[in-house]
Amino acid sequence: MKRSRTHRFETLAVHAGHGVDAATGAVAPPIHLSTTFERAADGSYPHGYLYSRNDNPNRNGLEAALAALEGGSSGAAFASGLAAVTAIFQGLQPGDHVVAPKDIYHGTANVLKHLFAKWQVGATFVDMTRLDDVKRAVRAHTRIVWIETPSNPLLQCVDIAAMAGVAHHAGARAVADNTFASPALQRPLDLGCDMVMHATTKYLGGRSDVLGGAVITRADDEAFAQVRTAQLFGGAVPSPFDCWLVMRSLPTLPYRMRAHCANARKVATFLREHPKVSAVHYPGLEDNPFHALAKKQMSDFGGMLSFEVKGGKDAAMTVAAQVEVFTRATSLGGVESLIEHRASIEGPESKTPQGLLRVSVGLEHADDLIDDLAQALDHCA
Ligand SMILES: *Cc1c(COP(=O)(O)O)cnc(C)c1O
Repeated sequence: MKRSRTHRFETLAVHAGHGVDAATGAVAPPIHLSTTFERAADGSYPHGYLYSRNDNPNRNGLEAALAALEGGSSGAAFASGLAAVTAIFQGLQPGDHVVAPKDIYHGTANVLKHLFAKWQVGATFVDMTRLDDVKRAVRAHTRIVWIETPSNPLLQCVDIAAMAGVAHHAGARAVADNTFASPALQRPLDLGCDMVMHATTKYLGGRSDVLGGAVITRADDEAFAQVRTAQLFGGAVPSPFDCWLVMRSLPTLPYRMRAHCANARKVATFLREHPKVSAVHYPGLEDNPFHALAKKQMSDFGGMLSFEVKGGKDAAMTVAAQVEVFTRATSLGGVESLIEHRASIEGPESKTPQGLLRVSVGLEHADDLIDDLAQALDHCA
């Protein structure tokens, strides 16, 4: 299939970046493990490949696929989500400044606080649900407004178009971490962002068996050239096999996301009625404060939710200890449902409520997930 923006999402998910192998006719893509590629007698590279850190067929296919799914012009794949985050900030200069949400993935906060602060890249963490706070945080040297929505672990939603507006008014770029929603549910470039970042480790990989990251850009501009430079010179590239694994999962992304969303809605509805649950954070619930915004900028509400158990940390730990269908583990986006006491993994700086459990709702039958949570909550005092 020729790549085309006019095809619908499901068709792009199957075909973009894929192609029948020209050398063999193989329909499923081969894995190109070779690190190096032969030159012609005249010294040129007849197939365009030189060395796998620069370019690799599996990586190029993945980058093209992700660019198509996000509606961008190009993509750059990395060895992890945080390698992608790091590559974006490596384009900044000492004295530059980033505005980021308070309720941000803790690893992204670590990159800013512990890697880039000592290179004099400043960061201000604000409540991004409050537009005026964001406007006040922007400075003359602000280069990036970082958006993460829905957020982790409170599932707060940020108005992407409004944030992109604030960024552009200040001469900064708007970059969105779209890991929680995936391009199946939300496309930040369509809403005005300049770049999208992904942990392909999560829904794009979809199986909890591959670590990866990506940056997708709206335009092949100077900022994206810096990301490419970080990829090529810094070298945090994914292996051909890891690229192949993510590619293998992309065709099912739209269908997996529909099932993740349907299951999460049922689990959230059950939890909201439960007497031992004090709060459920899921934008798909109609009385959730972010419901209208999520409805405006997402096509569905996602497979992630969190809830707070009455009785704080002890009660939350009891629930996590008693589940049988859910697996107690960090991460998200796989076929299996995961549950996690978030404050424990975020460490001493965490502001996450101690009674909060984060759930990645998987593809099991929703009623089995609900029965499992019901019996686990029965163990709480
Ligand atoms: C997991 C995650 C990351 C980091 O990805 P890694 O592959 O673990 O480095 C970044 N942002 C969000 C929202 C994530 O969930």
